[in-house]
Amino acid sequence: MEIPTSCTLCPRKCKANRTTSIGMCRGGSTVTIARAALHHWEEPCISGTRGSGTVFFSGCSLQCCYCQNYTISAEGYGKQISTTQLADIFLHLQAQGAHNINLVTPGHWAPWIVEALEMAHKKGLQLPIVCNTSSYETIETIDLLANYVTVWLADIKYHSSECSQKYSFTEDYFPVATKAIERMLFHNGNCKYNEDGILTHGVILRHLALPGNLADSKAVLQWMASLPQGSFIPSFMSQYTPFHNASQFKELSRRISTWEYKQVIQTALDLGLSEGYMQEKSSAKEEYTPAFDLTGV
Ligand code: SF4
Repeated sequence: MEIPTSCTLCPRKCKANRTTSIGMCRGGSTVTIARAALHHWEEPCISGTRGSGTVFFSGCSLQCCYCQNYTISAEGYGKQISTTQLADIFLHLQAQGAHNINLVTPGHWAPWIVEALEMAHKKGLQLPIVCNTSSYETIETIDLLANYVTVWLADIKYHSSECSQKYSFTEDYFPVATKAIERMLFHNGNCKYNEDGILTHGVILRHLALPGNLADSKAVLQWMASLPQGSFIPSFMSQYTPFHNASQFKELSRRISTWEYKQVIQTALDLGLSEGYMQEKSSAKEEYTPAFDLTGV
């Protein structure tokens, strides 16, 4: 594969020369990961009973101020590996019994990952491939990954440009993410499950409810309700915890209240978004953040 010398892999299009420097995403020339292990905290149709074979990639194109994985997304912690080693890691997760390979924040490493998946498939990888993304992705990167990915675990974070600018340094999150999600639906809009009840094709749309931002959550839910019924699985998350630089915004310095989350769920139900997942309020625990200690790397 050719390492981008004027990178446009994500919507930042920062044109970094990835052979000699790193981009806004913190990605450089060599794919970097912080953990590869069985993970039990995704939605049940992803984690199943044996766990999802989750590979956490270092760096992120979005850089949210409250990121729970900030040590790897913002600070870039991780180990540089070759694409051959990445292929072997996918195969090792399969040998451990993983239900799928779950690529967490893969967009800024997409060409490296595709090369590794190609190698792994030749060596016997058969698991469904899950793309776990902020949805701040270009159509080209979605299309590239869609040659391998059949399950999209996609965030829809904000509706207003004010929120996305304040918390994730981009005004265009909503128009970019909704186009990317529509593309995911184009590729895998019909949900299919295997005999273990694991999603093998489909789109899960996750919305993390933020404290003090109920109006924005409601606008996001209205957009979700405008999509074709049954083309995706909604997942409403209450696990927000003020990590990283969240405390620079007063409203983000606390967890969401029970009342706020109930309002989100009631809005979802009123809009007909009832066939999906919702979290217990008690889910806002730090153990949802795995240890980034190079396990499995
Ligand atoms: S993937 Fe990284 S280097 Fe490439 S355009 Fe996006 S932020 Fe820049």
